[in-house]
Amino acid sequence: MGPQRVREGFVELYGAEPEGVWAAPGRVNLIGEHTDYNDGFVMPFALPHVTVAALARRTDGLLRLHSADIDDGAGKPVELRVEELTPESGDGWTAYPAGVVWALRAAGHAVTGADVHLASTVPAGAGLSSSAALEVVVALALNDLFELGLRGWQLARLCQRAENIYVGAPTGIMDQTASACCEAGHALFLDTRDLSQRQIPFDLVSQGMRLLVVDTRVKHAHSDGEYGKRRAGCEKGAALLGVDALRDIPYDELDAALGRLGDEAEVRRLVRHIVTENHRVERVVSLLRAGDARAIGPVLTEGHISLRDDFRISCPELDLVVDTANASGALGARMTGGGFGGSAIVLAEEAGVPSLTKAIEDAFAAAGFTAPRVFEAVPSAGARRLSRAA
Ligand code: ADP
Ligand code: MG
Repeated sequence: MGPQRVREGFVELYGAEPEGVWAAPGRVNLIGEHTDYNDGFVMPFALPHVTVAALARRTDGLLRLHSADIDDGAGKPVELRVEELTPESGDGWTAYPAGVVWALRAAGHAVTGADVHLASTVPAGAGLSSSAALEVVVALALNDLFELGLRGWQLARLCQRAENIYVGAPTGIMDQTASACCEAGHALFLDTRDLSQRQIPFDLVSQGMRLLVVDTRVKHAHSDGEYGKRRAGCEKGAALLGVDALRDIPYDELDAALGRLGDEAEVRRLVRHIVTENHRVERVVSLLRAGDARAIGPVLTEGHISLRDDFRISCPELDLVVDTANASGALGARMTGGGFGGSAIVLAEEAGVPSLTKAIEDAFAAAGFTAPRVFEAVPSAGARRLSRAA
């Protein structure tokens, strides 16, 4: 849904023009999976799919929230009072934007209320971070309207607090930083320890390649609990190895570290994934900087095997995408995002896209799986203001 439609929706709901319209994208993680809560490296890029929000300030303490994508039948905004927002009060989709207002106010920023109407083209629950797009678009708009002067990485941090504490979803800092800070034609190399970032040129189209996103349209129900277990296992590994975070184990000391973990078989597997995955991010950065994007394909596939066999968060649908793609001429493929469903990415020669897409669709049909959604992802811009008051 375009910005004009969101503006019109705002006027219909609230009977006045918004003060502006903002957009924040979903993201795909190119490489660096589950490294973000281990102080490690990640490398997302922004999708062309965005959440668009129209906002106007209020000074009476009222926060009114409406999403064109949520059909609650009433066609009316949800009304909350900013001073009554507490992490215990969050409920449903409004917890994401309300959590952002709560986090801003808790950090001492005078956000006195707002009217919000939004709509999104980011598929929700597909591992493409519709939640971060929603948080970041609201945070950026409030930052502009209330002249808070916060930078992208600071907004990302506050959005993460909103999601962790107000929504109650344990996530790292990657999704919000990607949505807030990515640039078109680039992937974002982010060190999640000190939040330093580098924009890495990632223009596949001019080199005759494409990146496909395959949304499996499944989300296995136990994924949240499994995330918590992996996180706890990584923390245990770091404690056993006497480091602050698994990021502190250098790649060339991996074997020694695994030796010290003795018969802790599960922790060993988790540690091996994190240490090799950080190394893979660094390899992808070097290859892209050297202009050798084709060579990242096998690194992506290695990453998938590590997530499947060591971290054990893949599922039959994700494995089928990767196996089919690699058997059908892809340069490489991997699951992306938290795992147990969601999406996979496939790096392909441009000419191979139609046959690869068909091969994946056929394989899903033959396996009796829900038809996947396949689309090309072009690295796109991060959050931005689209327009000012009319
Ligand atoms: P992901 O971030 O991978 O898409 P999450 O489960 O983290 O999945 O976030 C999805 C949730 O975010 C939805 O269930 C909904 O509550 C909220 N959400 C995302 N986009 C919108 C939207 N456009 N309108 C309302 N709620 C949204
Ligand atoms: Mg999310």
